[in-house]
Amino acid sequence: MRFYPGYVFDLDGTLYRGAEPIPGAVEVVSELKARGAQVCYLTNNSSQTRSFFTEKLAEMGFPVTQDEISSSGLGTAALLSEWGVRSAYVVGEPGLVQTIREEGIEVVNADEDGLVHSGIVPAQAVVVGIHRSFNYPIMNGSMQCLLNGARFVATNRDSTFPLEGGRITPGAGSIVAGIATCSGQEPYVVGKPNPFLIELALRQMGLQASELLVVGDRDDTDLESGRRAGCDTHLVLTGIEKSAAPWQSFSPDLYGLL
Ligand SMILES: [Mg+2]
Repeated sequence: MRFYPGYVFDLDGTLYRGAEPIPGAVEVVSELKARGAQVCYLTNNSSQTRSFFTEKLAEMGFPVTQDEISSSGLGTAALLSEWGVRSAYVVGEPGLVQTIREEGIEVVNADEDGLVHSGIVPAQAVVVGIHRSFNYPIMNGSMQCLLNGARFVATNRDSTFPLEGGRITPGAGSIVAGIATCSGQEPYVVGKPNPFLIELALRQMGLQASELLVVGDRDDTDLESGRRAGCDTHLVLTGIEKSAAPWQSFSPDLYGLL
């Protein structure tokens, strides 16, 4: 297959499943980097920090540095910064709170450890991600912010959240839907299939869209974000999708990239 100067890899179902790297993934990514490719590890998951994903990938043997990690949480923090937002009401987990704080943005409803509370506190933006202790008072707090004119940003709209062994639980999109319903407002969605994170990766790598291959296991998120950014895309059948459309570049696993 053609060599690209840059590759964006989805994580879950593409490079690993749960705590296990997918066979061949470490070898293929290492080989592409050895040939001079730039790599971006990109996940829609907003619940963890950049250092968490760096450590997880490094422990599995992937060649990774912190600046190669991108997530919907990091993209959200970058977007808020771009918009000049200084304060955020977060519906999410400590990893998302920390990611937003690291961008220099005040989180109005969280303690030192990044645990959010449901106080009625004004903010310039409401940020919603996966939040596994979500409840009615937090929904109300976020709604009051939005009714007072805060911008509404969602890290992603994934309906479900994958666990090991093929099990699923409600995803960020389920929580976003609740807040959209009560506030009567629709969010700006940072994560895939929006091309925002791909465009951010292109800027960071200093590449043109034609020089980047977007690799993932899900057509409607991973590959759609790549297509919308004008990049070539490649599907692997190690995760969600079990077959490819006739026009789609695909391979059973990542060995197809070599
Ligand atoms: Mg995936």
